[in-house]
Formats: sequence, C-alpha cells, structure tokens
Amino acid sequence: MLIDQAIIQVRAGAGGDGKVAFRREKYIPKGGPSGGDGGQGGNVYLLAQPGVDTLLDFSGTYHWKADDGEPGGVKQCTGHNGQDLIIQLPPGTLVFDQDAGKLIVDMDRPGMRYLICKGGRAGWGNEHFKSPTNQAPHEAQPGSPGQERMLRLELKLIADIGFVGKPNAGKSTLLSRVSRATPKIADYPFTTLEPQLGIAELPGARRMVMADLPGLIQGASHGVGLGFRFLRHVERTRLLVHLLEVEPTDGSNPIDNYRAIRQELNAYSAVLTGKPEIVVLSKMDLYQTQEDQDAAAQMIEAELGIPTLRISAATGQGIEALLERCWEELAVAKLADVPVENGADEPGDDEPNPTAIPE
Ligand code: GDP
Ligand code: MG
Repeated sequence: MLIDQAIIQVRAGAGGDGKVAFRREKYIPKGGPSGGDGGQGGNVYLLAQPGVDTLLDFSGTYHWKADDGEPGGVKQCTGHNGQDLIIQLPPGTLVFDQDAGKLIVDMDRPGMRYLICKGGRAGWGNEHFKSPTNQAPHEAQPGSPGQERMLRLELKLIADIGFVGKPNAGKSTLLSRVSRATPKIADYPFTTLEPQLGIAELPGARRMVMADLPGLIQGASHGVGLGFRFLRHVERTRLLVHLLEVEPTDGSNPIDNYRAIRQELNAYSAVLTGKPEIVVLSKMDLYQTQEDQDAAAQMIEAELGIPTLRISAATGQGIEALLERCWEELAVAKLADVPVENGADEPGDDEPNPTAIPE
C-alpha cells in the first residue's frame, strides 16, 4: 500500500521582548518606567481539512513557522501577538514526533484542530518590575522562544479510482504513464502482486489517487488466488476504470474478458456492482489506421452496448481525455457522497487467503 510521507520542521513564534523605557514629560523630572510587554508568539495548529487529499504540498517545504510576537514599545505599548500558523492536512494523517518516533496525534476527524507547537511567552516590560524599593527598574524580560518540533506526517492513501481488467490489459503501464508511481511491468500474467497506487495530477492542482489493481482471475471472489484480497481495495474506490484489450495477446475474446471481470466484481459485492465504470480500450497504437481503430471500437461498443474511451499508454493517445473524464465522474460520485469505507484493513477471519501483502 502506498504511504504518502513527509518530514517537516514546525516552529511556533517567539514571544516579543519586553521594553525598557521611562516616561519623559515636560515638568516631570523623573518619569516612571513605561516599557510595554512584548506580544505572544504565534501558535502552530494542525487542521484536518476536507478536500486536501495528499501530502504532496509538503514535499517542497521543510520549514513551517508561525510569526514572532512584536517587542513591547514605549508608553506601555504592548507588542502585537504573532500570527498563528495553521497547517492543513488531509484527514487521516498520522502525525509522529520524528525524534521520539512516537505518534502524537491521528488527525482522523475532518475539521479537527490540534495545537502542535505553542508560541513563546511574551517578555514583560520594565513597568512590571517596579516595586517600592525599585522605582526605576532598568530590567525587562526577553520573550521566550517558540516550541519547535520535527514531525513525520504519514497518510495511507485510499484510491479514488481503481483500474480493473484482465492481466495484460495495460493497467500497470497506464498507471506509470499518469502518475509518479512506477509499478512493475512485464509481459506475462499476474505480474502485479499488490495494488500499486499513484497520484495523477491534472492542470489546476487537481489530483486523483489511482490504484492499479492486479488482474482479477476467475474465482477470485471465492478466495482463489491473490485477487480476493485486492477486491477489498477495489471496494473502497469511487470509480472503476475497466481496461480492455480489443485483441488480447493470448487470443482470448475481449467480450468474454469484459464479462468475466464484471462477473467477478458482481460476485464480490453489491457495492462494486453499483460503482460507476468507464470502459477503456487499451493499446490503440497497435492499429495501423484510424479506420481499423474505429472498426474495432465500434465492434466492442455494439457487443457490449456501452460507450468506450480509447487510449494508448505507449503514444499517449486519449490519456488526457481519460483523466478529465475520471475527474468529472469523481466529482459526481463525491457529490452523491457514496459512502467510502475508510481505515486499515486488519487481517481477519474473513481472509481466506492470508498471503502477506505489504500494506
Ligand atoms: P497489466 O497486466 O494490466 O498491468 O498490463 P501491463 O501494463 O503490465 O501491460 C501488459 C503488456 O502490454 C506489456 O508488455 C506492456 O508493455 C504492453 N502495453 C501496455 N500498454 C500498451 C500500449 O498502450 N501499447 C502497446 N503497444 N503495448 C502496451
Ligand atoms: Mg500489472
């Protein structure tokens, strides 16, 4: 399972120093102390912000700092407090103390706020130090430094979109084409032994988490082979991209292949049956002419009675259109707010095939 991770340093603002000053007024020969206090240093808060999906924003920025408090001024002027810093995290982020290696907080509830570093205390101005025995203190207090911590952020990514299809349909290749993930690619069945996740980025800072789910095989829903366990991941996605080879390299029939995968999904659960699906014809570069391509696609569409998209991961044909389409469908699915199961899957009694899969 892909884990998004980032290490950052966070620092609260220092408190402002207190001021040493004395009143200077006409006709008053000896004015009293009038130095103001400093301002409080800004706090650093973590916020679980719905809509933030990944930790990508943290890859480029290591230091995160709240503002310092301003020093105190003359005439009892207190310095302004430093502005707080609010760091927005995807809900579900685990926050560890990097030095101690301990979990500090699980930002699991959307909207939850957590004070991670407290701002430094403001220093007192000399006015505070006035006493019966010391009417003109030259003493003021410095502000104290803000708290500082090294954090490790960890987010278990849950895919928005799952790629399904027979082995060799081109799922791994498509994922590597659209994301930073680099799954293993090979020319024989069952190369993908675990779901690979990747983050696809579209213009305008739009991001989708996509999973290449390994080739489902006949009987996977009954626990045969590796497929069963992966179906659990499929179930969490909001949208399926069903890749289909029009002329499978193993000589099988594409329509049978499509139906076999649908059957597996249906057999597994009603949740899957109801997921929106985009049918995508892969490897379109294998056709020499546009006419051949059209004819092949029309044959499939007529047989299945559903529209298809066409892509080639090799040339890039149709990839952008596919991603845009995925984005639209995802927006619709999110609007309808299809409940998505969230959380770690513990190995349980319902796992007929407890093959160790790295999570
Ligand atoms: P998966 O089993 O569905 O993950 O399929 P892979 O991504 O591993 O691809 C299976 C084979 O098809 C590999 O040899 C790929 O190089 C090849 N392949 C994938 N996409 C394309 C494509 O767009 N065009 C061509 N010509 N070959 C492709
Ligand atoms: Mg693969």
